[in-house]
Amino acid sequence: MAKSFNHTYHSKEELYRYISSSQIDLYPSILVQMFLGQLSMAEAKRLRSEVLSKLPGAVIIGCSTEGQVADGRIINQSPVLSFTVLEETEVVSTLFEAGEVQDGFQRGRQLAEELVNMETKAVILFASHLDMNPQEVLEGFHAVTPQIPVGGGVSIVTAGKKQSIVLTENSESENGIAAAALNNSNLHVHTFINEQWKEVGRPLTVTKSKGAIIEKIDHQKPLKVLKHYLGERFVAHLPESGVEFPFLVKRKDSTSTLFPTRIHSNGSIEMSKQVKQGESLTFAFADLEAIVDCSLKELNRLRKKPVESMFIFNCVARRQFITDFSESEMQMMGEVSSLSGFFSHGEILMDNDNPPELYSHSLTCLAISERGHLPPLERERFQYILTPEGNTRVSLTQLINASSYDIEKLNQNIQISEEYYRSLFDNNTDFVYSTDLKGRFNSINPTFLKTFGYTEEELIGKLSISYIFEEDVPRIKRHFYRTLSGKEQFYDLWIPSKSGEVQLFHIKNIPITIEGKCVGLFGIGRNITEQKKTEERITQLAYFDSETGLPNRVKFREIAEEFIERARKKRRRLGILFLDIDRFKLVNDTLGHSAGDRILIELAERIKNVLPKGAYLGRFGSDKFTILISKNVTDEKIKQVAEMIAEHIQIPVMQGNQEFYIKASIGVGVYPDHGTDLSDLLRNADTALNWAKSNGGDQIIFYTDEMNIKAMEKVKMESYLRKALERNELGIVYQPIVELSGRRVIGAEALLRWNHPYLGAVSPMEFIPLAEETGLIGQIGSWVLMEACKQANKWQEKGFPDFYISVNVSANQFQQPSFTHEINHALKVSGLSPENLCLELTESVMIQHSGHTIDRMEELSALGVKIAIDDFGTGYSSLGYLKDLPLHVLKIDKSFVQNIEESSPDYAIVQAVSTMGKGLGMQVVVEGIETSEQLELLDALNCDLGQGYLISRPVSPEEMEMWMIDSQAVMTKG
Ligand code: C2E
Ligand code: MG
Ligand code: MG
Repeated sequence: MAKSFNHTYHSKEELYRYISSSQIDLYPSILVQMFLGQLSMAEAKRLRSEVLSKLPGAVIIGCSTEGQVADGRIINQSPVLSFTVLEETEVVSTLFEAGEVQDGFQRGRQLAEELVNMETKAVILFASHLDMNPQEVLEGFHAVTPQIPVGGGVSIVTAGKKQSIVLTENSESENGIAAAALNNSNLHVHTFINEQWKEVGRPLTVTKSKGAIIEKIDHQKPLKVLKHYLGERFVAHLPESGVEFPFLVKRKDSTSTLFPTRIHSNGSIEMSKQVKQGESLTFAFADLEAIVDCSLKELNRLRKKPVESMFIFNCVARRQFITDFSESEMQMMGEVSSLSGFFSHGEILMDNDNPPELYSHSLTCLAISERGHLPPLERERFQYILTPEGNTRVSLTQLINASSYDIEKLNQNIQISEEYYRSLFDNNTDFVYSTDLKGRFNSINPTFLKTFGYTEEELIGKLSISYIFEEDVPRIKRHFYRTLSGKEQFYDLWIPSKSGEVQLFHIKNIPITIEGKCVGLFGIGRNITEQKKTEERITQLAYFDSETGLPNRVKFREIAEEFIERARKKRRRLGILFLDIDRFKLVNDTLGHSAGDRILIELAERIKNVLPKGAYLGRFGSDKFTILISKNVTDEKIKQVAEMIAEHIQIPVMQGNQEFYIKASIGVGVYPDHGTDLSDLLRNADTALNWAKSNGGDQIIFYTDEMNIKAMEKVKMESYLRKALERNELGIVYQPIVELSGRRVIGAEALLRWNHPYLGAVSPMEFIPLAEETGLIGQIGSWVLMEACKQANKWQEKGFPDFYISVNVSANQFQQPSFTHEINHALKVSGLSPENLCLELTESVMIQHSGHTIDRMEELSALGVKIAIDDFGTGYSSLGYLKDLPLHVLKIDKSFVQNIEESSPDYAIVQAVSTMGKGLGMQVVVEGIETSEQLELLDALNCDLGQGYLISRPVSPEEMEMWMIDSQAVMTKG
């Protein structure tokens, strides 16, 4: 049987009485545990000799204590002596000075080797201080005897802080370990530990450590972290207070507590166990409910299976934390068996189930029995009802726990949203960055680094604007400040990469607002270089002429519309010029289109070079250009510019070795004089251009309203003329050609007349040029020729055999390849002989295509047809060419006759021409004789033939016939 007698020491006498009355001295083997309270060394030694003088064979281990347990009671002041009497168990003790061996593990090994033998069944171990590293001692001890249960406690936290004594029956120390081994192979040993924790708060990471010393937690000094979480009072009471809130550390197969054992002046803390860098710590808080549950469970187990003697080591902090329960717990335990022990600063327990461990805030128990089976206690189940104070603590624990769960959840959520954000940031194919309020880079995503070729280190903390072009800085600064004021910004920016490649980005800036305050901005950028290029290509195709690169018709219109709008607002004038190259078709036809294009490109270049500021050039179509003049526009200025352009166009163009002379016509419309919208302006400038062209080209013409009216009339006339032939509105009148001396009719000139139902009689001067222009002259000319020939033949047949008919032929008509054939045809159909037909040509016909013309005239001459040169003297032809041409009649223009007076230049001219014509064997006809004075003068000049109102106006065929008969009668009479 093993039984403990617990005596609270007051005096030697009482002690001796107790020993005698309890008959302790009768037992063969006695273990005395001395729980010394705060006795001094001298007092402790005296107490030990008192015990030994009564129990000389007793084995003693003892230590200083702060709270002693004697059966069901907690004693605070007086020492408690626990006498365990044993029948079959041998006890041995040993004491180890801390200084003997430095290394804790080594110390533990030595202790085990010295103390333990084959019979050892349990060991009790008291350490004087925490900082002799009991954990390592236990590990060393365990390494030698892994199977032997050890129980015990640590007396005081820090060496030298309070006096702490450990002793055995024959030695003592203020810094050491006292241990006792219970040697009896039949001894029944039971261990128990009650240690219940809950994690509180977020996990903290050990970021720097060395052995058991933690230098940094979450990159901060551990003391600072403890102060932050547990307050200044907690830190001030370290290391003793450490056991109240130890750290929980989760390792591979276990979760254990560790607590500070020493505070260093540099803010690092030494822990009860080694800590590795990167390990995660959480604050632990004693779980009162679980503690109570666990103890009751053990007590009820002991109720059924009691033990003979229990040694308990209870944490001082646990006692403070749950005073009520601590007392009840001791009391209940005292009911199970004899109970002795003390309140410790670190509880020791190890056996097969529990690894060597120094616990905190726990209760460890080593129970022994020499007998195998003890009868169950005759007692109801142990129960404990929490005091209101206890309940509050439980609730508080619950609150802390729930809060820490919430925090953890929140942390998780934050982490998840952080990961979401990260994905958006890291995996974005657009570049993303953030800056602070000064525009310094805070973060940069991988796309950013890849795009610009920088490393993160090169950018973070640097001013973002130092990576863009200087000229962009003011604009980007504006966007920056607008963003900070809360307005999202979009803009395009060319940015160089580290290697110098410049690309275009579309950038969006968004403010970063935290708690309603702007703290910086996010930038998101997309590379739009390719897109831009495509856009530009499309714009180029749509808006610009591919050959000259000039704005095309569409683009020019846009530009012009804009300028008109501006001119309207500012009441300014604009000039719009249409330029067309004269006879460019000829260039294309002779040189080919690619040469034509090259010439146009060169001309465009020349025009561009002479344009004044604020002028725009566009290509309107093939050889047509448009020019807009917008600055200081006066008619004079426009004229100057136009003349300059014309001058530069006229510089010969080289094609191969050949020089080409090119001229252009320019039509001008002025805003607002000639139109207030673009369409009107362009149309009117175009009308002016057409006017310039139809007047021979190589001219600069300003638009006038008459042009439009005339143009309108022309359009009307053209449509009337087209219908004139089929509606029989055309007719021929005849003007006699007579011998001036004697007035014999020798022929008549056929003159075309158009009698329009509304227009009345239209002059051939008006409609012949129009017929030429529109090509209608071919048809009309043929009709006149045929009618005139038929009429002449009729008259011949009626008895005027030498009568000839003179028909006017326009240049256009004469050039037709079929012309000779047409003459033949008319002669054949009418039956008129060729010598009775005279064709009147004007000088200009002969000058234009002289080679070709001579051939044609030779052809006609060969037929027998006569050829007259009409209106002689109005062209600029020299008289010289007359001799080379097969001409038969020369008609002196009426303008000479009109002003003829003796000794006037016209008189001389008529005389010279008439003499020369006759000299060349031609008949000379004088036109437009209106007065008898004129006739007299002409007579004097020996002119043979003439026509004119004086003789006869052009008349109908019937009148003509009568006239012929009359004349014949006169002649016959004469
Ligand atoms: P032209 O060939 O020189 O014809 C003579 C023009 O002078 C005629 O005008 C005639 O009426 C006019 N005339 C005759 N005597 C006098 C006179 O004493 N005083 C004045 N002031 N004028 C006189 P018309 O008939 O108006 O014809 C004008 C022009 O039209 C002709 O000039 C001719 O070039 C052209 N023309 C007329 N008929 C035809 C035609 O069938 N074919 C072509 N191609 N041209 C025609
Ligand atoms: Mg004529
Ligand atoms: Mg004439």
